Parts: sequence; structure tokens; C-alpha cells
Amino acid sequence: MKICVLPGDGIGPEIMEQALRVLDALRGDGFSFEAETALIGGCAVDATGTPYPEATSKLAKSADAILLGAVGGPQWDNLPREQRPERGLLAIRKELNLFANLRPAILYPELANASTLKPEIVAGLDILIVRELTGDIYFGQPRGIREEGGERVGFNTMVYAESEIRRIGKVAFEAARKRGKRLCSVDKMNVLECTQLWRDVMIELSADYPDVELSHMLVDNAAMQLVRAPKQFDVMVTGNMFGDILSDEASMLTGSIGMLPSASLDANNKGLYEPSHGSAPDIAGKGVANPLATILSAAMMLRYTFSLEAPAVRIESAVKKVLAAGYRTGDIYEAGTHRVGTREMGDAVIAAL
Ligand code: NAD
Repeated sequence: MKICVLPGDGIGPEIMEQALRVLDALRGDGFSFEAETALIGGCAVDATGTPYPEATSKLAKSADAILLGAVGGPQWDNLPREQRPERGLLAIRKELNLFANLRPAILYPELANASTLKPEIVAGLDILIVRELTGDIYFGQPRGIREEGGERVGFNTMVYAESEIRRIGKVAFEAARKRGKRLCSVDKMNVLECTQLWRDVMIELSADYPDVELSHMLVDNAAMQLVRAPKQFDVMVTGNMFGDILSDEASMLTGSIGMLPSASLDANNKGLYEPSHGSAPDIAGKGVANPLATILSAAMMLRYTFSLEAPAVRIESAVKKVLAAGYRTGDIYEAGTHRVGTREMGDAVIAAL
């Protein structure tokens, strides 16, 4: 197994170190891997002038999976758009055709108080959001800002081909099949033709999955239902822009973005695995960042790319144990628990393994 490691910026290197230590601790148990590190994001801009250098692209293409920390920071915010760290992320997703973004939002019982919602609304929450990642209005052409009638006009294009909808739909139906067998497709078909096609294709596809119950919801209602009664959902599938917003909303139901992993897969389950949060420049270098989202991303990598369910479950169980034992980084700390730093959290997970 060849893993391309991209620590990135801000807290990226700190949290990545812990994820690699956890993977190292699993070595030998029918499990071995080779890891090679490269630059992405702001650190890549500083070293090479571009957020996604050729050497990184080469390594990412040759690896089986990519484990990424986070990119970005205020020192790169004023660069031309093409050189911004986030462009590196868009480039790698597009180049590797990572069209399926899987974001679980799980609320561990021990963290029910960390949510801003009432514990009875969120306790036991376990949702998977499947977001299409390489199409939609984020990539559609034409796009730009032009002069028209003496003023500036901004424009973007929302576009989905049937084949793009079908392939993300398949990923979502398959995921639902492995979980609670309920899939909610989110669109805005009452206003946008593009998402009418989305709904039509989802309905056609459902004929192949009679064991999965398909429902539909308009995105504005979905945003409301996620805070009103989030436990009604099992798997949700949606386009790139709606998924961007809804998956962040769902992540906050769980209290801390520091807990949430994600996977972005291609058609052959090659994947890029990363925490859902950003580079947290406000706490970078202080050794206080929560590494659990990155550690859980490594578990997703074992499950989805390498089909290694047992070690994936071992990591997830170790994380549960550590939380049950009261270990907390600052973002999830509450009185009566044991506050630890990034490395100590890594130590605790390894001990629990
Ligand atoms: P952020 O997710 O980096 O931080 C938001 C808040 O959450 C901050 O207070 C931060 O300290 C906290 N936080 C985030 N991760 C944490 C962790 N693991 N442990 C403890 N606390 C954590 O979002 P932001 O502040 O909006 O963005 C900062 C930079 O990250 C920006 O440059 C942005 O563009 C970039 N970003 C990158 C990604 C990515 O790499 N995938 C995603 C989002 C934002």
C-alpha cells in the first residue's frame, strides 16, 4: 500500500504526525504501508510558486491513497486566485477525478454537550453526507465577471451531465445499502432545471436498489430539517454546492469540526482522506489541535481504499475508548474531563489500540 502524505499548512503537520503514528502502531498486524510526503497549499506556494507542484501531482497519481492535513492561512489570502492554497485542493480533486465526497457526522455520546443543539436532538446522531465534488456550479463554464450596461456582472453555470449524477448516485445507494438503507436526495427541482435532472436520474437509479428507500428533499428544507430533527437522516446525497453547505452544517451538529473525517473517492476507490476542518491558523504550532478527525480519516482510508475493515474498526474503537476515558483536546473540553494536547491525544489513541 502506497500512501501519499500531504501535511499542508497550519495545524496540518501536527495532526498528520499523529495519524501516521497511529498507522505505524498497526503495522505488522497483516498490514504494512509505504508513505511518502509532498507539498500542497501555502507551503507549496512558498517553496515552488504553485499550490499543487508537479512533483506532488506525480506522487499523488502513483499512490493508492492520499492522506491530507489542511491547507491555507492568512499569509496567502492576498495572492492571485490561481496561487491560493485552496486551488491546490481543487486541482488534486479534479486531476484524480475524486468525484465522491463522503462525510460522516457522528455524535459520540460522550460529546453530546459539545453540540449547540439540545442533547436529545443530537445524541446518537449518525449521518453520512455524500457530496458530488467535481461538477456543478464550482466548475461549470462559462464563469467570470464581465462589464455589461456600464456595471460589473458576475456569473457562474450550474451544470450536471446525467453520467455525473448517476455515478455519485451509485456511490450513495451503495453506502446506504451498507448502513440504514435510507437515502435522501437533496435538490432544488422547483427552481433549477439542472436539479430536476438530478432528481429524475436518482429515481431511475433507485430501480437498481429496491432494498434502499429513496426520498427527496428541497435543499432549503434539508437545511432546516438538519437542525430540527437530524436523526431522521441516514445517508444524504447532493450536488457540490448544496453538499458544501449542508456537510458543514451537519458537522456542527456534532459540536466540533475537530472530530470529523472525510473521504473523496474516484470510480476505483482510490481516495483522498482529510479532516473536514481547515488549517486553524489561530492555534497552529501550539500543539493543541485535535488530531482525531485526521486519525479517523486514516481509518476511512483503510476501509474504503484498502478494504481493511478490521484495522479501521480498531482505530474507531480506540477513539471511542479515549473519549470514554475522558481525554479531550481544547475544542471538545468540558469541566471534569482531562485536557490534553495534540501529541498526548495521539499517545492515548495508540495506547487504546
Ligand atoms: P478552520 O476549520 O481552519 O478553523 C475554524 C475554527 O475551528 C478555528 O477556531 C480553529 O481553531 C478550529 N479548529 C479547526 N480544526 C481544529 C482542530 N483540529 N482542533 C481544534 N480546533 C480546530 O476554518 P477557517 O478558520 O475558516 O479557515 C482557516 C484556513 O483554512 C483558511 O485559509 C481556509 O481557506 C482554510 N481551509 C482549508 C480547508 C482544507 O484544507 N480542506 C477547509 C476549510 C478551510
